[in-house]
Amino acid sequence: MMDLLRSTQSIIKSALQKLGYSNDMYELLKEPLRIITVRIPVRMDDGTVKIFTGYRSQHNDAVGPTKGGVRFHPEVNEDEVKALSIWMSLKCGITDLPYGGGKGGIICDPRNMSFGELERLSRGYVRAISQIVGPTKDIPAPDVYTNSQIMAWMMDEYSRLREFDSPGFITGKPIVLGGSQGRETATARGVTICIEEAISKKGMNLKDARIIIQGFGNAGGFLAKFMYDAGAKVVGISDAHGALYDSDGLDINYLLERRDSFGTVTNLFTNIISNKELLEKECDILVPAAISNQITVENAHLIKASIVVEAANGPTTIEATKVLDKREILLVPDILASAGGVTVSYFEWVQNNQGYYWSEDEIDKKLRKVIVDSFDTIYQTSQKHKVNMRLAAYMVGIRKSAEASHFRGWI
Ligand code: GLU
Repeated sequence: MMDLLRSTQSIIKSALQKLGYSNDMYELLKEPLRIITVRIPVRMDDGTVKIFTGYRSQHNDAVGPTKGGVRFHPEVNEDEVKALSIWMSLKCGITDLPYGGGKGGIICDPRNMSFGELERLSRGYVRAISQIVGPTKDIPAPDVYTNSQIMAWMMDEYSRLREFDSPGFITGKPIVLGGSQGRETATARGVTICIEEAISKKGMNLKDARIIIQGFGNAGGFLAKFMYDAGAKVVGISDAHGALYDSDGLDINYLLERRDSFGTVTNLFTNIISNKELLEKECDILVPAAISNQITVENAHLIKASIVVEAANGPTTIEATKVLDKREILLVPDILASAGGVTVSYFEWVQNNQGYYWSEDEIDKKLRKVIVDSFDTIYQTSQKHKVNMRLAAYMVGIRKSAEASHFRGWI
């Protein structure tokens, strides 16, 4: 199996070739322009000091400041952060936001850390990267296992360092600190819109659809709720411990009430199946909304869904994409399906810059337009060039960075 960075690079290469760019452009865009590794000493509650390793990667800032989340996870590594920053450039290109891509991560397990330890780690990270970030340089946001409280600590630390209030330094903040309406649900809203568009392309009806969602965190949890409320049958969900499946549909409100802040709920049940088994169960729409490399050559031929919508980053391997293609399963790629989060982050940053705030209704309308237009452009591109939705999304996504780099005279 090719790793995330290598497979991203190979698709970027094909996309740039299709767009008629030279190999020099590929050499520029295949890696981030800048990545720093930082070591963050944190005083733990028991009095000892632990040194954490963190990263911030900035893929390309030709279009504008770089933008993207910070993840707290034990498996964070340099290559993954690099790949994720490239994907942020692609997401911003697809949605036509005035940003390049960035991403950060800290190797840690927030599930085993206290509130105080997390606060000291978050503040330490901002101090360590403060020279290369800022509202017009690189704007962080939430990602796996980070949330609005962590964004609030980071914003406070940055504002203290600069000695002026800087809400535009980071997005995904609590509303009272300049967060945007609709930011929390934005990723799931984006996925929902992609599902609606995909369903209409397949001539199906949402009310008749059976959906499996892998992951019950921010994206998966809200998505399950939106699908349930829309009358679709959510037949399967899962978390890091296992999965629940019921062909009659699950009671999503009940499950949401009982999950913990890390999206865990299956540990309360005895009739659970594995995440692997869940992916192969009967359904019409499969939404991997957890971690990468879930649909591989080993299970791609066993998927029952006719639509796969990737709410997570990189859930399907490049080899498995080919299998799904052959089977004529419509795959809505991650860089399109999960672009709702960064889109509303952009709205948050615009509101911070102008000091004037929009209603949830306005945000939802603006988000819908961005995602519907993006879906449409990518679908048309895939038809016109006879390529799959993933390659089409890369073509649309990389074009702005390439054009901007060219106009700036870099290539
Ligand atoms: N972490 C999210 C993503 O991967 C959001 C990034 C942002 O809001 O800047 O798209």
